[in-house]
Amino acid sequence: MRIGIMGGGQLARMMALAGHPLGLEFVFIDPAPDACARSLGEHKVIDWSAADLVSQLAGCDRVTFDFENVPAQSLETLAAHFDVRPSPKALEISQDRLAEKELCASLGIPVAPFQSVDSRPDLMAAMDGLGLPALLKTRRLGYDGKGQYRLVQAEDLEPAWQRLGEQALILEGWVDFDHECALTAVRDANGTVLFYPLTHTLHREGILRFALSGSPANVPWQKDAQEVVTQLMERLDYVGCLTVEFFVTAEGLVVNELAPRVHNSAHWTIEGAVCSQFENHLRALTDLPLGATRARGCALMINFIGQMPIKDMLALDGLSWHDYGKQARAGRKVGHATWLLDDFESLKDRVGELVAYLDPIDAQGLTGLIKAAG
Ligand code: ATP
Ligand code: MG
Repeated sequence: MRIGIMGGGQLARMMALAGHPLGLEFVFIDPAPDACARSLGEHKVIDWSAADLVSQLAGCDRVTFDFENVPAQSLETLAAHFDVRPSPKALEISQDRLAEKELCASLGIPVAPFQSVDSRPDLMAAMDGLGLPALLKTRRLGYDGKGQYRLVQAEDLEPAWQRLGEQALILEGWVDFDHECALTAVRDANGTVLFYPLTHTLHREGILRFALSGSPANVPWQKDAQEVVTQLMERLDYVGCLTVEFFVTAEGLVVNELAPRVHNSAHWTIEGAVCSQFENHLRALTDLPLGATRARGCALMINFIGQMPIKDMLALDGLSWHDYGKQARAGRKVGHATWLLDDFESLKDRVGELVAYLDPIDAQGLTGLIKAAG
């Protein structure tokens, strides 16, 4: 079978790495000549809204995407010719923070308090209504904390508006969370759903830094998270992997956002689960039986941001390396490592070995994460 992927970034790359043993072939649509999946299939260096997309993907049995900002119109067009999974509808909703929040609210799923902002007076009213601190975010095209402005005092309105005004915006009330977690689930076309264990996540400057499976602090939240994800998947008649990011608060889980694709918070499943999110996504797309989602131990994923570090960390027993082959650039996700241990207690005992390789801010972040985890 041949899979067309809109996007040729690291997620497409890891999908292809998981798909080759299943005998799948890949076509990547990505205008960047150096797209990092390029060597793992056929790379079409064209725009995501190119007029000849349908003919460029000729021969594909399924079409999917590896990032949210694929033009929804292109996917709609493709859906008339190909089996597009997950559906363009799921993508469309997740492209718009307002639509995403309204969907959750309509299902009774808690989200951060929010107000739509299309003008300066709207922003003023929203700041009054939601109180401060609050986060002003672009409704569309944000990722890795980009397109966001934190409002702390009334005087922040002007610089925030200068930076982000002139686009559709949303103001979100500040969520006072204990920690963040994410649930990845996979659903096949028959409606069977399997869940990975919750992932404990830690962000730095809006970018995921660490993801931990097997965090004791998350065990009590697994059931609630599964209920939320089941509701969303059923409403969207979803096929493939879906990740929902949550804030864990004193009042319970609050949904932050949805990712209708494979997701960074579940990269640990490559080594840390019986069947990875990448393989399960492809199994769901191609109507193969789903693979087991149970963990093989306790896995800690470390994102490499900006540039790859030297490989001295590989001295750690159980550590795996993923270099995406991308050019170094500030704030860019260029690779990750996953450290797989027997259980959380082993990680707790040995975390100092890893901390020794980290910069002081990450070292502090990781120590805090392990403490919060249990
Ligand atoms: P990504 O696509 O990488 O997940 P993003 O750009 O879509 O990132 P968000 O998930 O909206 O960004 O926010 C990034 C991080 O900022 C969150 O994981 C959380 O740590 C913090 N954050 C976002 N919204 C809020 C909020 N309303 N209250 C408190 N913290 C928040
Ligand atoms: Mg996010």
